[in-house]
Amino acid sequence: MDIPKCRACEYTNEIHRAAVEAEVERLSKMKGLRLCGEDELKKRLLLCSECGQLDMNGVCMMCGCYARIRTLPADSRCPAPQRRW
Ligand code: SF4
Repeated sequence: MDIPKCRACEYTNEIHRAAVEAEVERLSKMKGLRLCGEDELKKRLLLCSECGQLDMNGVCMMCGCYARIRTLPADSRCPAPQRRW
């Protein structure tokens, strides 16, 4: 079975997922960066998953960020004008 490719580049979604998880790991270890708690993170990701702006690769089409990364810092905000979280 073919692994689906990203619509925006030549990489597969598996490569994207690995890169996103590596970035999450890097941010988690970054000194001085306050991350949101687990409950808040789940809430944000749920809102993103229900939002029509999230593409099939997990990228927010409002800002171009991976939602998994955008939701992580405590002081991050949803970029939508109606701000979902
Ligand atoms: S960050 Fe906001 S606009 Fe983007 S997918 Fe999540 S809820 Fe939707």
